[in-house]
Amino acid sequence: MPVLLNKKLAIYSILQWIVLKADLEKIAAVKQTSEFSKLLPELLLSGLTPYFSVYVDADAMSSNDNLVQTHQGGISLGEREYYLDNDAHTKEIRDKYKIHVAKMFELVGFTAADAQKNVEAVMTIETRLAKAAYDNVKLRDPHANYNKMSVADLQKLVPVIDWNVYFATLGLKNTKDVSVSQKESLIEAGKIIETEPLATQIAYLQWKLIDESAGYLSDAIYAQNFDFYGKTLSGKKEHSPRWKRAVSSVDGSLGEAVGQMYVKKYFPAEAKERMLKLVHNLQVSLGERIKALPWMGDSTKVKAIEKLNSFYVKIGYPDKWRDYSALQVKNDSYWANVERVNRFESDYMINKANKPVDKDEWHMTPQTVNAYYNPTTNEICFPAGILQYPFFDMNADDAFNYGAIGVVIGHEMTHGFDDQGRQYDKEGNLKDWWTAEDAKNFEIRANVMVNFFNNIEVAPGVHANGKFTLGENIADHGGLQISFQAFKNATANAPLQTVDGFTPEQRFFLSYAGVWAGNIRPEAILSRTKSDPHSLGKWRVDGALPQIGAWYQAFNVTEKDPMYLPVEKRVSIW
Ligand SMILES: [Zn+2]
Repeated sequence: MPVLLNKKLAIYSILQWIVLKADLEKIAAVKQTSEFSKLLPELLLSGLTPYFSVYVDADAMSSNDNLVQTHQGGISLGEREYYLDNDAHTKEIRDKYKIHVAKMFELVGFTAADAQKNVEAVMTIETRLAKAAYDNVKLRDPHANYNKMSVADLQKLVPVIDWNVYFATLGLKNTKDVSVSQKESLIEAGKIIETEPLATQIAYLQWKLIDESAGYLSDAIYAQNFDFYGKTLSGKKEHSPRWKRAVSSVDGSLGEAVGQMYVKKYFPAEAKERMLKLVHNLQVSLGERIKALPWMGDSTKVKAIEKLNSFYVKIGYPDKWRDYSALQVKNDSYWANVERVNRFESDYMINKANKPVDKDEWHMTPQTVNAYYNPTTNEICFPAGILQYPFFDMNADDAFNYGAIGVVIGHEMTHGFDDQGRQYDKEGNLKDWWTAEDAKNFEIRANVMVNFFNNIEVAPGVHANGKFTLGENIADHGGLQISFQAFKNATANAPLQTVDGFTPEQRFFLSYAGVWAGNIRPEAILSRTKSDPHSLGKWRVDGALPQIGAWYQAFNVTEKDPMYLPVEKRVSIW
C-alpha cells in the first residue's frame, strides 16, 4: 500500500517540522541575554551544547564523590583548528562549512539573505569560542583541566550568567562546588554572551538546534547534512542504508535494553571464562614486567603493583541494567523522540549529583565493539561486543587470541600507566605516587614515542601529532609487550605449531595487524589526525611494531628492512 505509506510519511515529516519550528521560535523570542541563565540549561537538557556544557562526573581529586563540571564546546566543526588554521585544506573545509550553514538555514525556511547573515553570526561566535578553546594536547593534562571552585566564585568568574538559576533549571539542587574544566574558555563564553549583539546570538543558538537535529529531519535536510559532515569532512561516498541508521538510532537511545538481548544471544558463559583467564594472565605478565623495569625505583614499583592489583575488571555486561521505563517513545516525530531521549539521558546524569560515584555503572553498552580504561574508578571494561572476530575467536589458538584481544586487554591496562593514567593513584585520585626521578625517567622514554610519531607523515605535508596520540601509542606499546609475554608464559609447557607456514610468534603479530587492517579515505585521514587520540590503523601497526624486540626475532627483521629501527632508537617503557 504505497500511497498510504507515503501519506503517513508526509504527516510524520510535518510533525517533525512543527516540533523544530516551535523550538526555533522559542529561541527567536528571547528579548535579552539575561534569559540565557534559563534558556541555556533548557537547551542542554534537550541535547544541545551552545557555548559550553555542564555534566556530572567523578571528582578527580576525590574519586568517590560526583562533582558538577563544565566543559568547553559550542563549535560545530568539533576541532578548534578548523576555525584557526590557514592551510589550503582547512580553508576549503571552512568555506564549505559556510555554504553548508547557509543551505541549512534556507532548508528550514529562512530567506537567502537572512541565511547569509546567520552564517556570519555563526562564524563570529564559533571562531571566538575556538580561539579560547584548549587544544587537544592541553585537554589531555588532567591538572590543567581541574579548577574546583564555589558557585559564588564561579559567579564572579562568569557574571553574565546567574548560576543559581542555571543549576536550578538543570535540576541540580544544592550545588556548592563546580570544577571549571577549561577556565579561559568559559570566561570567553561569558564575554561573548555579554558583548555580541542579541541577534547574532539568536542566530548562533538556532544553528546549534538545526545542526543537532539535522540527522533526524526530512530527507532533504538529512542529505545536506550528510553532504557536509559525511562527504566533505570524512570523504564518505554514500550514507548508510536506512535500516542501519534505524538500528544505530535504537542502539544509541536504548543501549542497555538492546544489550540485554545481545548478550542472551551472543555471549556464552565460556567466552566470559576464557576472557577472565586472559585478563588474569595479562595482569601477571604486566606485574612481571613492572618488577623487571630497569628505569623505575623500588618504591614506585610497589605502588604500581598495588594499582595493577586494584584494577576493577568488567567483562561482558553489567550486573544491573538501566531502567528505561521513564522514557517515553511516542508515535509523533523522530526528532521529538530524540529530544526525549536526550532529556532522559541528561536527567540520568544530573541525578548523579550529590551522590557517591556508582562504580558498577558501565560507560559502554555490552554490544559495543570497543573497550576502555577509566582512571577515576581504576577500571578496565571489555564489553561482550569486542569478543568476536577479528579480536577474539573461541575456536582459535592462543597465538591468535593473545595477538588480538590479549593486546587490547594489555592496551587498556597500560592506560592506567600512560602519560595521563599514571597521574591517578589506585583509588582513582589525581595524586602523584611517583618519585621525581622515576617520573623524569618515564617522561624521557615517553618523549621518544612523541618524536617518533611526530615524524610520521600521514598525508603529503601532514604529520601525526605525537603528543596528542601519546597515551594511545603507549597503550599499544605496553599492550604488545605485556600480551606477548603472557602468550609465551601461557604456551611455555605446550608450544604451538606452525600453521600455514607461520610460526606461533609470527601469527601473534599477524593477528595484531589484522585487528587494525582497514580502508580509509584521504579526507578521513586528515580529519582523524586532528580529532582522534588514536593513531591511524596503519600506524598502530607500522609505528608500534618496530619498537618491539620480539617482532624483530619473529620475522628476522634486520637493518636491511625498511621498518628496522636501531635498538637505541626504539621506545622502551613498559
Ligand atoms: Zn586506548
